[in-house]
Amino acid sequence: MKKMIKKAYAKVNLVLDVLRRRPDGYHDVKMIMQNLDIYDELIFTVDESKQERSITISTNKEGIPTDSRNLIYKAIELMFDEFNIEATIHVHLEKNIPVEAGMAGGSTDCAATLKAVNELFDLHLDVQKHMELGVKLGADVPYCILGKTALSEGIGEVLTPVNPLPPCYVLVVKPPIGVSTKMVYTNLRANELSHHPDVDGMVVALEEGDLEKVTSYMENVLETVTVKLYPEIEEIKTIMKEQGALNSLMSGSGPTVFGIYRDEDVAKKAASYIKELGLSKEIFVTTPV
Ligand code: ATP
Repeated sequence: MKKMIKKAYAKVNLVLDVLRRRPDGYHDVKMIMQNLDIYDELIFTVDESKQERSITISTNKEGIPTDSRNLIYKAIELMFDEFNIEATIHVHLEKNIPVEAGMAGGSTDCAATLKAVNELFDLHLDVQKHMELGVKLGADVPYCILGKTALSEGIGEVLTPVNPLPPCYVLVVKPPIGVSTKMVYTNLRANELSHHPDVDGMVVALEEGDLEKVTSYMENVLETVTVKLYPEIEEIKTIMKEQGALNSLMSGSGPTVFGIYRDEDVAKKAASYIKELGLSKEIFVTTPV
């Protein structure tokens, strides 16, 4: 038996712009992604005594498919097909990242799986090849392979590492609703947006290492769809700011809201307050990674 454990980190979007809806239905985006210290753990076991294809998944979390719909399964299948591997592999997913949250939970598991299969079967693939394979399974997968702080363009496959977010604390609140990314993009009037965030401005602010300036550029055009449907997102954003956040924003297609704090105690107090109000049971005070 060969065993491997991988951590798969969640992300938030510090800024998210959609440039246009393309004729093929995909959207050109321009956004800055940031990993947070919230992660799933994936435990891979390969039974080397069997040379037949078997892919099985178990998880601690109810409601996540463990069959071929799971992105972990899809990632293994893609690698096995691409490199003619017939093997017996089991993956246990310890899910900590909120689901249908806009935190790339599935995409990051997918990215971690591509890396694990590369290592378990000595494929010696470089990062570029991981990304080429990853984008076939989801637009956020290439970023999840790279991680840290990155500018993401194209449909998500054109990545440029940028300066890290200056040290801070991030309060993450996932309201008790699930939002489908597909639904949000379908309802977005991408070619009619009257205002676009200044993503380049944030890149410069990151280069300057000025936390306050960075947070002043936080904006997400997908809020135009999700917040209209779920006004509690705006409510949580407002509470975070009233409770000392430099700024707050919805991540990805939502509904997760995050606030940036200088001070850990202030962030923890805001977390307790939001919990007391009963707005969410999935609340984290974390840091960027
Ligand atoms: P993103 O930020 O990329 O839009 P998300 O947070 O909106 O992601 P996910 O948590 O990735 O959404 O999951 C969306 C759906 O994908 C789930 O409802 C689930 O059915 C399916 N899914 C497939 N694989 C996974 C996985 N490994 N983890 C979680 N969900 C998965």
